[in-house]
Parts: sequence; structure tokens; C-alpha cells
Amino acid sequence: MVGDVAVGGGAPLTVQSMTVTKTADHEATLRQIYALAAAGADIVRCTCNESAAAVGLARIVPRSPVPIVADIHHQYLRALEALEAGVHCLRLNPGNIRNPKHIKAVAREALDRQVPIRIGVNGGSLHPDLYAKYGGKVTPEAMVESAQQEIAYFEEVGFDLIKISVKASSVPLMIEAYRQLAEVTDYPLHLGVTEAGPPPIGTLKSTAGMATLLAEGIGDTIRYSLTADPVEEARAGRQLLEVMGLRQRKNVDLIACPSCGRAEVDVFRIAQDAMQAFGERELPLQVAVMGCVVNGPGEARDADLGIAAGNKRGHLFVKGENVMVVPEAEMVDTLIEWADFIHTHGTQAALARASSTRQAARRAAAQDRELNLAQRGLDANNASVAISNIRGINRDAK
Ligand code: SF4
Repeated sequence: MVGDVAVGGGAPLTVQSMTVTKTADHEATLRQIYALAAAGADIVRCTCNESAAAVGLARIVPRSPVPIVADIHHQYLRALEALEAGVHCLRLNPGNIRNPKHIKAVAREALDRQVPIRIGVNGGSLHPDLYAKYGGKVTPEAMVESAQQEIAYFEEVGFDLIKISVKASSVPLMIEAYRQLAEVTDYPLHLGVTEAGPPPIGTLKSTAGMATLLAEGIGDTIRYSLTADPVEEARAGRQLLEVMGLRQRKNVDLIACPSCGRAEVDVFRIAQDAMQAFGERELPLQVAVMGCVVNGPGEARDADLGIAAGNKRGHLFVKGENVMVVPEAEMVDTLIEWADFIHTHGTQAALARASSTRQAARRAAAQDRELNLAQRGLDANNASVAISNIRGINRDAK
């Protein structure tokens, strides 16, 4: 338990993030913690790099909406201060708090207070002996050994409220390190790609590493480490769990076709507008934006709600059923209004609401489908022209 949040032991996956304010500035830090919690963070970490930060933590912990982890580097005394401040968890880096006496002193104090500790191994700050042992390189084996050494110190004093991370900035390295760690320990694992960088590449790296492990059943809590506003980290963490079906969806899952030669509208723009308009609204529905009425309603028939363009108008459908037609300019507003309705009243009520317009909507969709096929033909993306061009190129090459 990190405060009142369970980690591991079959508990739901959780999202973590870290403040970037000075922890001593408790008001600014609390504002950021609230923003992170609103974006999806279940647990927030704050640096405890100086005594003033520990004093800040004493003010932050009682007012925080989520459990607080104190991040400790180099100075074990900061860990003792953070415990005194009432934090719900510590993070220790075995690479830079190396004296076994200090490590055990912290573990004893944490044991008395029943406060868990994360062993936060970092590929960039391994113990020098481990670098030397593994040929001057950071290897998965070295990272796992670092975690095991720390576990041994903790277990010597009877402390087992442990979770572990073995983060690296290299995705293949961190994946392998976590896989090896999962083989040798049952303690809960905190996943992350460290120093992943700014979005979008930082988000991509983190997702690649964490999603791979989560799909293998490895990991109990996750953190994106992005060079960006930490709210983006919390949001990305929540969204990753949502798209992997590991957390109940909070906001709209907007799906959209990639557009093609058959599209009758600027799908990119409408999808962006819809994404912006839905924003953080709490509507846990799947909503589709499709570029044409020829394939749109069919391909997105599983969506709760969708709209497909055709003949300068939008064809609205609920679970694949055409329900009404609206002018192109009203497509996004209509989606929002119907999403609200479905969320409040359900799909059946939405279909009933459209009982007087459904027949006309179905007819209009059929007409616009025919029109699209007549104007763009069966081969809207000119595949036959492309194929004959390619054949010509191949002939000339011979
Ligand atoms: S066929 Fe229609 S729905 Fe499919 S990608 Fe093209 S425009 Fe979008």
C-alpha cells in the first residue's frame, strides 16, 4: 500500500508522475499535484533534495489528494526527514546511497512506520562496482543485481514493503532488465523508461517499453518520464492503461479513419476539432469520425457513436445505425450533443430518440453512398492507374 493505493498483488495498475516544482514551495507543489491527480495520476512523487523540501513535504502530505512518494538521492538523512514528514513511500536509488549502514537505518525507520520503499535502479547511475563487474557496461544483469543487493540489505532488517524499478533510457535494455527481474522476484514492479525525452519521441519510447511489458503481464505501476509538463506524463499513463484495457476509460476514445481518395471532408481537421471539443469531458464512449459514407458507418459499426461525411453533410450513426443527417458545419457539435445524450440515457434511448428520423437518415446515406460511388467509382484511390504505371516502370527497367 502506498497510502491508500494498493500496488501489486493483483491490484489495478496505477499511474505515477512527479512534480517539477521546488518541493519547499509547498503551495506551488500542491497546485501541481492537484493538476496531476486530475489528469490521472494515482500517486505523485516529489523530490526531497534538501531539508527545506522535507519541511515542504510535511505541509504537502496532509493536503494532497493522492499519496506522496519522496525521491531520495545521495543523502540518506533526507529519507529520515521525509519519513518524519509523513510521506507514504520513499524512492531510494541504490546507485547513489551506497553505505549499507545508511540503507538499513532508513529501512528500519520505514519498517517502524510501515512505509514502503521503491528500489529505483537507474541504468545511468549504477554502483561503480557493478559497472566494473559487467565490463564497464550497463547490462540487464547488472541492473537486476543492483536491485537484489538492495533487497538483501532490506531483508536483513526484516523490511519487505518493497517495490522495484530498473529503468534505462534504452528501450530494449529496460525491457530485458524488467523481464529478468520478474523472473527472480515477486515484489511489485514500477515500470518506466528513464530520460525518455520530449514528446512525441519520449512518449513513443515510454509506450514501447511499458506496453511490451504490460502485455506480458509484467508491471504493477507505471510512470512516463517526459521532458514536458508532468500533466502530460499523467495523461499519457492513464491513456496507456485505458487503451490496453487495464483501466476503465474516463474520456472519449476517438477513432477516425486515415482518410483516402474517397473522403468527402477534411477528416484530419474534423477529427482534431472533435478531439479538442471533447477535451477532458468525462464521456467514456467510443466515437468515430469517418471520411465517407461508403465505408464509414460499416467500418465503425462497433463505435457507440459516429459521423461519416457524404455530399456536404454528416451522417450520424449510433452503433452502426444511421440516425440523422446534419450540415457539414454541424458535425462536431452534433457528436458532442449525442455523446452527452448517450452517456446520460444509453444507446437504446438514443435510437428511440431518432425513431422519426432514422428512415430518412438511412435513405440519405444510401443516396450519398451511391453518389460517392458514381463520382469516385469503385476505385477511388486509383489503384488500377497506379498498377498500370508500376507495370510500365517495371517494363522500362527491363
Ligand atoms: S474509404 Fe472512407 S472511411 Fe475508409 S479511409 Fe477512405 S474516406 Fe475514410
